[in-house]
Order: sequence, then C-alpha cells, then structure tokens
Amino acid sequence: MREPGTEIEIQDLSVRYDEGDQTVLALDRISLTVRRNEFVCVMGPSGCGKTTLLYVIAGIVRPSSGTVLVEGEPVDRPGPDRAVVFQEDAVFPWMTVEQNIGYSLRMRGRPKDEIRAVVDRHVELVGLQEFRRAWPRQLSGGMKKRVDLARGYAANPKVLLMDEPFGALDIETKERLQEELHSLWLVAPRTIVFITHDLEEALFLGDRVILLSPRPGRIAETYVPDLDQQRDMSIKGSARFVALSTELRGKLKSFNVDVDAGAS
Ligand code: ADP
Ligand code: MG
Repeated sequence: MREPGTEIEIQDLSVRYDEGDQTVLALDRISLTVRRNEFVCVMGPSGCGKTTLLYVIAGIVRPSSGTVLVEGEPVDRPGPDRAVVFQEDAVFPWMTVEQNIGYSLRMRGRPKDEIRAVVDRHVELVGLQEFRRAWPRQLSGGMKKRVDLARGYAANPKVLLMDEPFGALDIETKERLQEELHSLWLVAPRTIVFITHDLEEALFLGDRVILLSPRPGRIAETYVPDLDQQRDMSIKGSARFVALSTELRGKLKSFNVDVDAGAS
C-alpha cells in the first residue's frame, strides 16, 4: 500500500552494466521511499552508483531488475514530471536569462501571460532580476547555476533531480548556492533528490542523507540531520553538525576508497 504523500518509491532496484565480457553491478537491490516535498541527498564516493540511481529515476537508464514509481506510475522514460539539473550548466547560450527560464513553458505552448508570470517569479526567486535580459556569456558560473535552478523549478516538475549541480563551483560560490537552494526550497517546497560526494553539502541540504557504499552500490546508512530549518553556513559549527560529519567521514573511510575523489 502506498502511503499518502509518497512521491517516489524504489523497490529492489538493481542496475548492471554489460561492457563486452565485463559486468558492473552499479546498484544492488536499492529500496527507498521519498515523501512529497522531501529533500533527500544521496551521497557516496565516486563510482558508487549515484548518477545511475538518479538516471533511473529520470527514466534515462533502465533498471536490470526492480521498480521505480513516481506518484504510483512506473518510470520507463523521461517525462515533464521530473526535471534534471546536471553539474555542467545546461543554459542555452543563444537565449537570455528570461528566455532560458521560460523555455519549458514555451515548448509546451503555454500562453504568453502565464510564461511572463512564471518567469517573473522565478527570476526573483533566484535573485537575477537585474540580469533577466543578460546573455549567459555575461554571467558568472554561480549565476548560470541560478538560471539552471530557476529553469528546473519553472518547468514545475513533481520531482527535481540534481546530480552534483554545484560540483564545479569554487567553495565560496558553492556554499552561497547551497544556502540559496535551501532557502528556495523552504519558500517553494519541492521533492528533491540531490546527488553529491560532498558530505557537508549532503548534511547541510538534506532532510535525509542516504549513504551509498561502493561496488556494488548499496544503501549503507541513513542519516536524518534534523538541523534548524532556518540555517546558513554557520550551522556547520554546531555540535550536531560536527558530530554528524565526523560520523559520516568515519563511515566513508571504512569503505576504503578515496573520499575526495571528485565528481563523476
Ligand atoms: P557515481 O555517480 O557514484 O560516480 P555512476 O553511477 O556514474 O557512479 O557509476 C557506477 C558504476 O557503474 C561505476 O563503476 C561506473 O564505471 C559504472 N558505469 C556507469 N555508467 C556506465 C555505463 N554506461 N557503462 C558501463 N559502466 C558504467
Ligand atoms: Mg556521478
């Protein structure tokens, strides 16, 4: 039976990649339920199957076995109910900020008034009012990321899937974007599955942090950070945050892989 408020249900999901005579078991019997408007971070070292998991939910990769349901419907292809934000920004260089943000609505043939209203709201949500007519080449990396987030949100999907979206940013910009995404999610709640190999990022953003262990990718641990809802980077100095990150770091070390191996 599906609980009311359940958005994503993953049951016994396994993904095997076959390459010639080599087989990689990328995910091994993953079961996970995500509630509506929950912010779930999936974290783990490089190669543990994070992107594979996200791509299965997105409908880009087919499971070898098991099922994925979004609002009770089996996922078998990409769809407008799921938007993906990748590490590389996917801003169209030939469109202005506002054209980028309104793209999905234009594609769906929505009326001009509606597009304008949605673009106005989302330009404001990510603080790009002064840049709405700017071209992507005029924007910093952080600003392009804001356009990406706004575009994902403006498409009004049920689920936002993010694969290390801040992985290529410098640390100051990354932390600012983490604070902004958290605030954005508080004012505009949405079901988010956020992939990262950065444990502090996961603890800062997640309602729940799912730790994957590598080879094969399995759920090793689940953490509920339970931090103050209104938070900024200063929370990283709190006893709770320090204890959680120490625990998570220890767990990662026990996997015996290079924890800071970087995104992939
Ligand atoms: P992560 O995102 O955690 O770094 P991935 O999901 O990208 O992990 O990869 C998990 C494992 O599956 C890795 O061992 C990777 O080499 C392998 N893999 C990923 N995509 C493919 C593919 N298309 N073909 C073959 N192997 C793949
Ligand atoms: Mg990856």
